[in-house]
Parts: sequence; C-alpha cells; structure tokens
Amino acid sequence: MFFKHYRCTQCGKEYKRDEVRYLCPDCSKDYRAGMPLTGVLEAIFDYESIGRKWKENPGIELFAAVEPEFYPELSVGNTPLFRSNRLAEAIGLTDLSIKNDGLNPSGSLKDRASHLVVAEALRLKEKKVVTASTGNAACALSALCASAGLEAVIFAPQSAPPAKLVQIKVHGATLVTVDGTYDDAFAASLEYTTREGGLNRNTGYHPLTIEGKKSVGLEIYLQNGQNVPDWIVVPVGDGVILAGVHKAFVDLQRAGIISRLPRLLSVQAESSDAITKYFITGRYSDAVKPSTIADSISVRTPSNAHWAVRALKETNGTSITVTDDEISQAQNLLAKTTGVFAEPAASAGLAGLIKAVGQHTISRTDKVVLLVTGHGLKDIGAVKV
Ligand SMILES: *Cc1c(COP(=O)(O)O)cnc(C)c1O
Ligand SMILES: [Zn+2]
Repeated sequence: MFFKHYRCTQCGKEYKRDEVRYLCPDCSKDYRAGMPLTGVLEAIFDYESIGRKWKENPGIELFAAVEPEFYPELSVGNTPLFRSNRLAEAIGLTDLSIKNDGLNPSGSLKDRASHLVVAEALRLKEKKVVTASTGNAACALSALCASAGLEAVIFAPQSAPPAKLVQIKVHGATLVTVDGTYDDAFAASLEYTTREGGLNRNTGYHPLTIEGKKSVGLEIYLQNGQNVPDWIVVPVGDGVILAGVHKAFVDLQRAGIISRLPRLLSVQAESSDAITKYFITGRYSDAVKPSTIADSISVRTPSNAHWAVRALKETNGTSITVTDDEISQAQNLLAKTTGVFAEPAASAGLAGLIKAVGQHTISRTDKVVLLVTGHGLKDIGAVKV
C-alpha cells in the first residue's frame, strides 16, 4: 500500500494515519455544524512508487488508502462506462460516454465512500459506523455494514423518499429520523459520535469518503483507454463526488501518469446552489431555501464547499444550476435514448450538460463523460412521464 499520511487542504500540516480521524485540529477549531467544513484532510501517497508500478501494471488499487484485507465482502464500483451516440446526437455532441454508477449494489455512487469507510472501521475494530444522509449515503452504509457485520446508525430527514427508507431498514440499520433537514441530521450525527463513539462517515468530514469516491475518477480514466476526457459532468450537493473526481486526476498527475486535468462541470439544483454562488462570486453563503425533486443534491450548507470550488478553479471548470423541470426532462431523455433510468439528482448532470452545450461552454467535439450517480428506482414518486 502506498498511502503515506494525511495533509490539511487548508494549512498544509501533515498528520500520521492514526494521529487524526476527521478534520485538521488546527483549522477546524472554529468549525461548528451549519458551516462548510474547514480543515478537510486529503490522503497523500508515495506517488513516485505508484508511478513506477503503474507502468508495469496499471490499477486503481495502487491509489487505495486502506489495505484490501479489510474490505467488506460486498464489492462496489467497476461500473460500466459506455459511449452513447443516440444521446450525443440528441444534445449536439459527437463524443459522449456515460459512467453508470447507479449500478452499484445499493444503487448509487455512495457505495464507494461507504465501502472504504467500513473497511477503515474494520481496521480500527470499530463496531459501529454513523452517518447523516439525505438517503443514498445511508442506504450505502446500511448495505456495507450488513456485509461486514457492523452496526450502521443513520440520521436521516423524515422527507427521504420511501424506497430509500426501506433500503435502510431491510439491511438492519438503526434509523433515527430527524424532524428537520439534512443539515440538521448532519449536526445530530456529529453530536451522537461525540457522545456515543463509533466511526462517523459524514461526507467530507471523514477524509476517506473523498478517497472512496475517487475510485470513480480512476475508473473513468482506465475505462477511457487511459485518456483524460475534456469534461466530466458531476451532479453536486455537498461537493464530495466532485472532490473525489478531482482528487483522482490530481493523484494521477502527481504520480506522473497524466499531464492535464479534465475540466469539471458541476451541476446543482436551482434552489440548492451554494457552491455555484460561491464559485461565481468568490464569497460563500448558504443556499437560501433548498427544495428540489433532486433530494440527493438538496443541501443548504455543502460540507465540502471549499474543496469543490478549488477543484473547479484548478480544472478550469464551472458550475451551473438547473430547474426541476429541466431535471425531469433530462431524466426522460436519458431513459429514452440510453436505457439508463436515473434518479432526479443523477439526471441533473444531463440537464446541466444540455445547458452548457447551449451556452457554448462545452463545444460540440469535446469528449465528455456524464456521471450518472444513482438509480431511478430509488424514487419513482418523482418521475414525470
Ligand atoms: C450524494 C449524491 C450526489 C451528490 O454528491 P455530493 O458528494 O453530495 O456532491 C449526486 N447524486 C446522487 C444520486 C447522490 O446520491
Ligand atoms: Zn489545517
């Protein structure tokens, strides 16, 4: 394993693997629930050795931050990447691929983060993993804890789609429904781990959530014949998938495997636009009143806003918003031209892509990868056919 240590993305201070668990103690001193995380840690690897090994035998396990012996039995990732000429033609592109992460075991990309954090819990001999979630992170954690024989403790808003609440229960997780928003659930779960212990899997808060989501970026690179696409389109709530995709290509670059980063298009729901506003104005403020059919990207205070905006700047990317109507239209178009049924949040990416092509941000011949993050059967109530 080539994982070396953690480094604070804010002050640069380095920490040994078991010296800290969550945030940089210095930079998170003034952190309180209800603001974007400060002092988020990134995993640093022995990039020189990885670069050498990659030449002999490329593989994403070279960039893993937990030893494979601790992985839960339920395997995640390795989802298909495929060209879709029908959709490309419909929206005015010549080279469009879909990465279908709705095909993960619990039906969303969140399985990647939960897989790695559960492996970490097994390494640390923790019996219990705790998370706040709008739904999918909870489904993922419930499934992966079931596979590992650990207890999952879930804080979720009452408003989560019924299928997601069923998923949590069928895997035997302990569900605490919070009478409030996702942001309230986030605060409640932090309080709980401070009081009761267990490993907290809150997105962005545990550095291995970013590392887990990173695997999707590494897979995209490998499945694309070790070519860097021009654009990767990512639906954004807390900004952790965006950070994970960014970290994948930064790690590849640090190991000397690639020389340029793909541009990232962040797509948010109109009412859940904190990262977009932050990127455009340079000043952070909460989303005013998040309310969208895309529940998985409905966030007032994106936990990973600072890293997300840095990722957009470093990749020469951008961030845009889409309406619920545009999301519904995109959901239908995706289903009818590709056979992929995506939940609303996972359809937001396509809605944003259509907009970005219309605004000439993305040009006709750019090579684009559209990341589909969650399965449509998770929320059939939101479908408008
Ligand atoms: C969580 C989630 C997102 C957004 O990921 P963030 O890391 O919160 O930005 C997008 N789509 C789906 C289906 C999700 O579950
Ligand atoms: Zn720091």
